[in-house]
Amino acid sequence: MDDCIFCKIASGSFGTEFLYEDENVVAFKDLSPQAPVHVLVVPKAHYANIIDGVPAEVLASMAKAAEAVAQTCGIDASGFRCIMNTGADAGQTVMHLHMHVLGGAPLGEGLIAKA
Ligand code: 5GP
Ligand code: ZN
Repeated sequence: MDDCIFCKIASGSFGTEFLYEDENVVAFKDLSPQAPVHVLVVPKAHYANIIDGVPAEVLASMAKAAEAVAQTCGIDASGFRCIMNTGADAGQTVMHLHMHVLGGAPLGEGLIAKA
């Protein structure tokens, strides 16, 4: 999609540094970090959200990316949170599927904290 910021980032248009990349996804630092580690895992193809017919291989790449990011950022042992905001009530602001990977400090126990 021409007007989608994450499509542009994932295609490399802005020269964004990728912490992880494979044939299906990229991972890069969030512009406005909400934790010491705050990385976004973003499919290269455009899906609006997690219920937009995302192929199994893309979901597998997203999980693999989360593991790689956690290892690269040194939060695999301490723990981290993966969040995929979906739709208005979740506060999704970028309508291109993405998973937040948050960690590097205790995040609290709440299930509804917005990344
Ligand atoms: P959402 O609220 O949709 O779950 O999360 C969108 C996230 O994308 C926010 O955390 C926001 O900071 C991040 N974001 C928005 N635009 C950009 C951008 O141009 N570059 C990067 N790296 N992150 C962005
Ligand atoms: Zn897009």
